[in-house]
Amino acid sequence: MSTSSPPCTAAEALTRLQEGNERFIQGRARFPTVQKEVLAELAKGQQPFATILGCSDSRVPPELVFDASFGELFVIRVAGNVLGPSILGTLQYAGSHLKTPLFVVLGHEGCGAVEAAIGSRFHGARQKSRIEILLEDIEPALEGLDGTLPRMTLLHQAVEANVRHTVRALRATPEAQAREREGVMKLVGAVYELQTGRVRFLEPDE
Ligand SMILES: [Zn+2]
Repeated sequence: MSTSSPPCTAAEALTRLQEGNERFIQGRARFPTVQKEVLAELAKGQQPFATILGCSDSRVPPELVFDASFGELFVIRVAGNVLGPSILGTLQYAGSHLKTPLFVVLGHEGCGAVEAAIGSRFHGARQKSRIEILLEDIEPALEGLDGTLPRMTLLHQAVEANVRHTVRALRATPEAQAREREGVMKLVGAVYELQTGRVRFLEPDE
């Protein structure tokens, strides 16, 4: 487990993700294969430059959309990119041990989990019991949205609201506040566009 300084600043980490996503969109991705020497080097330890909390959706693999290789991203994937005790524990590990300078909550357009939460909140739809528990983590994010909007408009707004909700909850943790005050950690929300492959980084909340 590494205790050395982060591989780059939070701002540099964000630029690396944005440039990687651009290469991915342009079809100029760097990592079709990984060399044995790279694997051997990484076997000694990891020093990822960013932690990504994304959705389990098969269409949004963070390493591919950011054109990042083995050892570069610390990734947590859970339907609807929600927080829960084990997710928070994993994030705490990323912060306290790996010290990744950048944390990204990565939602995506057309998220089925968010759509199910809309169904539950606005239309009284019911799911199997454990899915219901998952949706309970998303539903508070839908507060203030207009349930009568056209389906795709509402889903678009809800996806972004859900990312912002998770970012706010993370930012409220004492550790995040302390590390952001030190100026060494950045926490950002982002939404992946299924059709274009582009990651849209969100402006911070006021
Ligand atoms: Zn999803």
